[in-house]
Amino acid sequence: MTVHQLQPGELGRSRSRLKAKAAASIVAASVSATSMLSAGPASADDARLCMASGTITASSLASVEEGVTLRWYIEDPCGLPKDILLNGIPVGSSAAAVADGEVARTPSGASRYTLTVRRHNPDGTTSSITIGSSPTIVVGNIREYRRTPDGRVVSDHPVGVSEERRAARQTAQRVLRQIKEPYASRLMGKSIGISIIPTGARLTELPYWNSLAGLPTADGRPGGYDAVRGVADTAQPKIAVGAETLGAGDIGDPTSPGYALTHELGHLVLMHTAGPEDMRVLADTARRTQIRAGGPFVGDDSYTKFNVDEYWAEGTAAHFTVFAKRSLSAEYSQAWLKTNDRNLWQLICNVYRGCAPA
Ligand SMILES: [Zn+2]
Repeated sequence: MTVHQLQPGELGRSRSRLKAKAAASIVAASVSATSMLSAGPASADDARLCMASGTITASSLASVEEGVTLRWYIEDPCGLPKDILLNGIPVGSSAAAVADGEVARTPSGASRYTLTVRRHNPDGTTSSITIGSSPTIVVGNIREYRRTPDGRVVSDHPVGVSEERRAARQTAQRVLRQIKEPYASRLMGKSIGISIIPTGARLTELPYWNSLAGLPTADGRPGGYDAVRGVADTAQPKIAVGAETLGAGDIGDPTSPGYALTHELGHLVLMHTAGPEDMRVLADTARRTQIRAGGPFVGDDSYTKFNVDEYWAEGTAAHFTVFAKRSLSAEYSQAWLKTNDRNLWQLICNVYRGCAPA
């Protein structure tokens, strides 16, 4: 949860500077109260004592429609008047030796927030000091649809928050806040679009996915894309999942609530953040190694080993303990992955937080 940390010892050092300064102030006060009021750094040494430091933290590492609270804590030993800025935008001012505060933000794309102070020096100049930056906050948005009386499926903006939307927010937050660097940064400025396919509507009736109507899927499933209830786009970070996949299934051999969304978010992570170290190539090497070893694979073996995308998406589902079939639920865990497909487990742990220590 906390995020930017001071370097080890940094806060301690600056606290002891504060104490030294306070002791000096008491002596100075007994000499002249007025000179204290106008006190600024009188020498180069004093100016160093006045170096501001502090922290900025975010209430969450992901924002899916609900925003985040950014909190700061600044130590400015000389207590000079200063403006406090987040990404260059003033959020407050203070003349105290210790200043803290918070502000809510709902970023429209993945963001980092840099905290600076603009200090007004006694000689009339100002100086800008960068205190630190928040970690990357990954961002998602959700879109719902409805069928019009004339049969089209259009974007819907219902009043209030539907059960499906609430469930999608929760699952997306759970996954997105665990994406480590440098992967999270590769989504900078972008928002992950999550479309909820209404029950009773086909994926290919949603405007963005129209062009897939009538097309077969790569794995040749019955009904092609028209029948698909979970899909991820390679061109943009957009996915769509069936509304029914977000709630509890209770017939046959059901999936976990949120399984489809977690699986599709896994696809997006591999497709949109793999980067120059090429997680995609590494994951495919792990997959081929596992095929040569004769498996096993998380969940339905023939599906998981089919290509690197499904391999990664099912590994993601295992990491977050959501299963594709209740009968295979024992395989969707970090422990199972670590024991049975250690190469994939290692790569998954490189990309997502939350692995138990090896
Ligand atoms: Zn998939």
